[in-house]
Amino acid sequence: MSKNEQLFERARQHIPGGVNSPVRAFGSVGGTPRFFSKGEGAYVWDADGKRYIDYVGSWGPLILGHAHPAVIEAVERAARNGLSFGAPTEAEIDLADLLCELLPSMQQVRLVSSGTEATMSAIRLARGFTGRDKLIKFEGCYHGHADSLLVKAGSGLLTFGNPSSAGVPAAVAADTIVLPYNDVAALQAVFAEQGSQIAALIVEPVAGNMNLVPASAEFVAAMRQLTQDHGALLIYDEVMTGFRVGLGCAQGLHGITPDLTCLGKVVGGGMPLAAFGGRADVMNKLAPLGPVYQAGTLSGNPVAVAAGMATLNILRQPGFYAQLAANTQLLCDGLTDAARQAGVAFCARAVGGMFGVYFSAEPPASYADVMASDRAAFNRFFHAMLEEGVYLAPSAFEAGFVSFSHTTVDLRQTVESAAKALLVR
Ligand SMILES: *Cc1c(COP(=O)(O)O)cnc(C)c1O
Repeated sequence: MSKNEQLFERARQHIPGGVNSPVRAFGSVGGTPRFFSKGEGAYVWDADGKRYIDYVGSWGPLILGHAHPAVIEAVERAARNGLSFGAPTEAEIDLADLLCELLPSMQQVRLVSSGTEATMSAIRLARGFTGRDKLIKFEGCYHGHADSLLVKAGSGLLTFGNPSSAGVPAAVAADTIVLPYNDVAALQAVFAEQGSQIAALIVEPVAGNMNLVPASAEFVAAMRQLTQDHGALLIYDEVMTGFRVGLGCAQGLHGITPDLTCLGKVVGGGMPLAAFGGRADVMNKLAPLGPVYQAGTLSGNPVAVAAGMATLNILRQPGFYAQLAANTQLLCDGLTDAARQAGVAFCARAVGGMFGVYFSAEPPASYADVMASDRAAFNRFFHAMLEEGVYLAPSAFEAGFVSFSHTTVDLRQTVESAAKALLVR
C-alpha cells in the first residue's frame, strides 16, 4: 500500500470521508487523494515523495506559487508579534486602503476569514439594506456553503450530483431564485414579475465552479441595468476571480461597478482571509454603525493580513498580469493543439490566470453545456496526468490556475504530458 493509501485509510477513521472539504476526496474521478507534504513554487510533493506540477494552487489563492519567499517572510514577521488580538491593528487599515484603491467600486470593506463568510454577510447586508428577502443566483455558480446559496451550486455539489444540500430549510431555499447563466431573457422575465421583492443578484462574473464559463457582455449589461432599475443590489462574487483575472478583478474587465463585491482566495495569499465591500451607504448599515449584524473572532487576523498584503504588493508590479495571462494562454493553446493531434473533442479557454478544459467540441456557455461534456474522458485524462506528474483539480467542474511560478518549461512539459494522456482510451 502506498503512503497516500495508508493516510487515506487512517484519515477516514476520524474525518468524514477522510477530508475537510468534499472535492478533495477524489469522489468524482475515483482513486486515492494525494496527501501533500510540501509545496514550492509551481510544484507540490505527495506523501510518497512524488512531485507534481500543480494547477490547483490551493483552489486559487496561490497566485505566486507555493511558499513564495516574500509571503513566508511577511507571515513569519507577523506571527512573531502575536497570532491574534481580536482588536484593531494598523495592518488591517493598510489592507482596506489598498483594496479600496484597487477596486473603485469599493468605498468600504470588511475583512472576514472565508469566502463563505463574505458572501453570506453580503447577502444579509443586501437584505437588510433593501428590506427585501428574495435573491437571484445562477445555476452552476458556487458562492460558498451558506444555506440560501446552496441551491443549484456548482463544483463540489455538481461533483456529487446533488442539485442542493440536505439540511437547507425549504423556506430558506424558497427565497433563492435560480436562473440559467448567460440567459438575458430569463433574467428580464423574473425582474418584470418580482423585481420589487428582489434584494440582490449574486453572480460569479467568470463562473469558475462549473469549469470556466465567462459571462457574455449582454448578460453583464443586463444584470447591471435590471438590478439598478428595480432597486436590487448587484453582488459580484469575485472570491475566485478577484486578483486572479487582473488587478482590477472581473469588474475591471467588464467595466462594471457592482454595489457589493466579495473577495477571498488570492486576497489572503494562502491564509484564511476574505472580504466584502462596496457602496458606503450600503456598508454603513453594518454593525456597529447600522442594524445588520456581522462579526468574527479572527476577522482581520494579523498573520492572514500580512500574507494578503505581501501577495498584493507583488501583483501590483507592472507587467504581472500580462505575463500571467500570456502563460495561461500558452498552456491552453498547447493543450488544444495536443488534443487536435490526438483527435479528441476538446476545448481550453483562459481568462487571466484561470483556465478551463472541457471534453466537448464547443466551449460551454451554461451549466447545461458543462453537464453535456464527456466526463469519463476527463477522468481518464485526470488520472493519466497525475501519473505523468501533473496535478489538476480532481473534478471536471473546476477551473484550473496558473501561478507566477510556472515557467514556460513547466507549461511545455505539461503539454507534452497531455499529448500522452490524451491518447489513453
Ligand atoms: C471558493 C469560492 C467561495 C467560497 O469560499 P470559501 O473560502 O471556500 O468559503 C465563494 N464563491 C466563489 C466564487 C468561490 O470560488
